[in-house]
Amino acid sequence: METSTTATKKRRIDDESPSAADASNGKSGTLKDTIERGRLWFEDGSVIMVTGNVGFKVYKGILSQHSDFFRDMFTLPQPPDSETSEGCPVVRVSDSVEDLEDMLDALYNSASRYFSDDHILTFEEISAMLQLGYKYQIEHLRHEAIRRLKQCFPEALDDFVFSGTHADLLTPSTAIPHREFPRSSTDLLLDDSIATINLSRTYGLDFLLPAAFYVCAQYDEKTIVDGLRDARGVLWKLSEEDLKRCLNGKTETRKAVRRSLQWLHSSPSEECTSRKRCQEASQRNLLQVWEKNYLDFSDALLDNSRIGRELPHRYCESCTRRAKQLYDEERSVTWNKLREYFDLPPATPVVEEEGRDDASNPP
Ligand SMILES: [Zn+2]
Repeated sequence: METSTTATKKRRIDDESPSAADASNGKSGTLKDTIERGRLWFEDGSVIMVTGNVGFKVYKGILSQHSDFFRDMFTLPQPPDSETSEGCPVVRVSDSVEDLEDMLDALYNSASRYFSDDHILTFEEISAMLQLGYKYQIEHLRHEAIRRLKQCFPEALDDFVFSGTHADLLTPSTAIPHREFPRSSTDLLLDDSIATINLSRTYGLDFLLPAAFYVCAQYDEKTIVDGLRDARGVLWKLSEEDLKRCLNGKTETRKAVRRSLQWLHSSPSEECTSRKRCQEASQRNLLQVWEKNYLDFSDALLDNSRIGRELPHRYCESCTRRAKQLYDEERSVTWNKLREYFDLPPATPVVEEEGRDDASNPP
């Protein structure tokens, strides 16, 4: 699977549903001597989940309540030589310790943290909720993960602006604050855009792709090709096809920036109160565009406050109003063309609903 080409060390992403191989039979009896107790260990628990040498003692009933996968597993009679410890069945899985811990924590310990906008989750937590939510068929986990990702990579331009996504795309990296989607409940970095694209591909979350590709295209070409590493050390790289999409789309977004500044070449508005000053402002602002290499930028979605900030030479009220209107019109055109720029199929509302409602299993 493409997303996992580099996700080897800590995160083992299985694109198959968990199978008998995951719940392998081992020898019984000696387990507690050989595994380390994980953060979740309820003395009166009724099942021990083990990954690597770390175990979590939790309750079958709660797992079954939330997960069709576990309900089926616990309903089936276990063979007599099944691995047990402390009188509990042992279920071995191949997920990373961190991912499994996030999932169990969300189910047993800190539901309020994972399901409330008051608590900001990291990308890695959301990624674990999404992947294990699909794998173990825990609907509310994957719903919540998708809801949070959508805050950062929404389908409407207004929501994109509201999430604050646009705010720092042009800021030099040294100045980028830790939270790059400041008004969402997700502590996502721009660096997580490639991971988001790959997860969207794996789980059919097509509606996240236009905004995620757009954010990814803000990086320089080398970074887009080399890929980006998440906080758990996983290197995420685009597939060959998506890499072409992203690089072609980056060229298109540069053209969009040029179009968004074309109004600088027009005459002052008819109601202009100071034609000479406004004409001079455009000439000086054009020089600024040239000197600061704005035409190399790929961010054509920044809100219209860039007029006045990046283009500091002021216009009369009427010309300012017209400039912002023309800029915003072009910006809407750009947003509506993202699928075209990144060679993505047209949005299909019915399929999107399925993805949102999340009734389907991963492809
Ligand atoms: Zn004017």
